[in-house]
Amino acid sequence: MFSSDVPPISLGSWPTPVEPLARCAKALGLGPEDLWIKRDDVTGLGGGGNKIRKLQYTCAQALAVGATTFITTGAPQSNHARLTASAAARLGLRCVLVLGGAEPESAQGNLVLDALAGAEIVWAGGDRASAVDAAVQAVADSGGVPFVIPFGGTSAVAAQGYVDCAREIEQQLPGVERVVVALGSGGTMAGLVAHLGVDRVVGVDVGAVADPVSTLAGLLDEMPGPTVRAADLQILRNQVGQGYSTLTEASAGAIRCLARTEGIFLDPTYTGRAFAGLIQLVKDKAITAGSKTVFLHTGGLPGLFGHPELSTLR
Ligand SMILES: *Cc1c(COP(=O)(O)O)cnc(C)c1O
Repeated sequence: MFSSDVPPISLGSWPTPVEPLARCAKALGLGPEDLWIKRDDVTGLGGGGNKIRKLQYTCAQALAVGATTFITTGAPQSNHARLTASAAARLGLRCVLVLGGAEPESAQGNLVLDALAGAEIVWAGGDRASAVDAAVQAVADSGGVPFVIPFGGTSAVAAQGYVDCAREIEQQLPGVERVVVALGSGGTMAGLVAHLGVDRVVGVDVGAVADPVSTLAGLLDEMPGPTVRAADLQILRNQVGQGYSTLTEASAGAIRCLARTEGIFLDPTYTGRAFAGLIQLVKDKAITAGSKTVFLHTGGLPGLFGHPELSTLR
């Protein structure tokens, strides 16, 4: 069950800004006060992104038990892996990243930053779980104290970082009616829902987990706060396309739209899909003029430079 006696440490710069997206809103047929962006892409450490708020809680737990080495796992272009490596560097700890698949011929995007931050990378092929177990054993055998940070940095405790973010949003934009966010491992959306309620949060699934609805419901069950029914969660599942690591037409269009109207860059995997979901909601008239919507920018730009379909993006 939920336990968070350890206060979070600070790894970023807070609060992150909220800015109007007036030109983008106009392009979508909305009013200048209808669309806003919460800049959790500029959280500071390690190039920024949503994993920092979660790591503030998880790293506090790790330090409390005397951890010497973080071990975490993800896809080769995992933003979470990059930010865990950055947090380890900031805290003077070792970091082992267990990544799926095989080592690519040349490192790009997040992989370059992982190495720069001093992380050791283990290529796990198709079996990340046993590679994590082996890494834990190796650290313990060498006299260290391993601490495993879960996939995507998500746990019921880590999700408190997005309860904090939801509080910030309410202060910065009183009366906000809707927050739209990418849904990967679920911690980010879970924290927002725990504070803002199911009616005000829309998650756009990116295809990172097999069953996002039960993942999210399970997390919310473990968190303090009112009970949430899985059926009430607002989760868009039509932006996954051919899968997590592919570039969809809609994501490319959303990236272009925000870049050209506002000069703000999104990534193909998470924020591009999430903003494409927001554009879809406007087209479907689920978002209309006269209500306040916040797009949560969760970061991820380094992933753009490691994306297999990067050359088709223009
Ligand atoms: C990890 C990630 C997300 C998803 O956050 P979860 O808490 O895993 O759902 C969204 N955007 C970016 C850029 C990410 O790296």
